[in-house]
Amino acid sequence: MALRLQTLYAVSELIYAENIYFSGRSLEPAAARSRLDSGIEFPDWQTRNGIISRMEIYDITVAVSETVPIYSGDPSVTVSAASSMANGDTANVSEIRFGVHTGTHVDAPNHFIDGTRRVHELDPHKLVGPCRVVAVPEDVMAIEPEHVGDLSGVERVLFKTRNSEFWSEPERGFRKDFTYITPETARLLAEKGIVLVGIDYLSIEKSGSPGHPVHVTLLEKEIVILEGLDLRRIEPGDYELICLPLKYEGAGGDGAPARTFLRTLV
Ligand SMILES: [Zn+2]
Repeated sequence: MALRLQTLYAVSELIYAENIYFSGRSLEPAAARSRLDSGIEFPDWQTRNGIISRMEIYDITVAVSETVPIYSGDPSVTVSAASSMANGDTANVSEIRFGVHTGTHVDAPNHFIDGTRRVHELDPHKLVGPCRVVAVPEDVMAIEPEHVGDLSGVERVLFKTRNSEFWSEPERGFRKDFTYITPETARLLAEKGIVLVGIDYLSIEKSGSPGHPVHVTLLEKEIVILEGLDLRRIEPGDYELICLPLKYEGAGGDGAPARTFLRTLV
């Protein structure tokens, strides 16, 4: 009986948590407005929890591994067994060493503006919520304001570019010929009140840009930069973003790998 009660309690806690979570979403005025503006109907799960499973979850994270391309000059990755049952140890315990800008990761303001916010201090409200995926034509190297489109009511935007296909060829290593956003586009996004901007390669800024104006423009406005996304399977449109950077303290706190999902809205 105790076990049964415990199970019931756990289930009711889950439903309670889902209700709080989803009613929280419906109270977010910017998101509600943007969805009304774009003609997307409010899905049934806001009133009925029974069909939550119809929503798709896409993992858009590039795994940390010893073969993943690393930004030029950043630390390499090692993944090893600190203890191993195959070698007679009582448990498997892995050890990973990597730079914090490895794979899919966020940049915190302290990456380029010393003495500012670190990754463990990022506002979770910026990391989770409605998100627009904007596809940029295959032949575009520089994402200019004309490629951004109408972002009315949008707070988070991810750019899907030709870069995503780079993840299909990790053996080619880090590539400098990636598509990036221009300083003009960074200023536009900052003016529009965007809180998070993402791109599907290891930097949002043209390789070798003196003074890193794109990073600085975004980071001084406390806009979260999300880099290294894998958007190969993602159609442009509106989703919910769930971006979960590793929480750690120490050193620069300038970035962190981030397990990142997109969830369909209906
Ligand atoms: Zn970075």
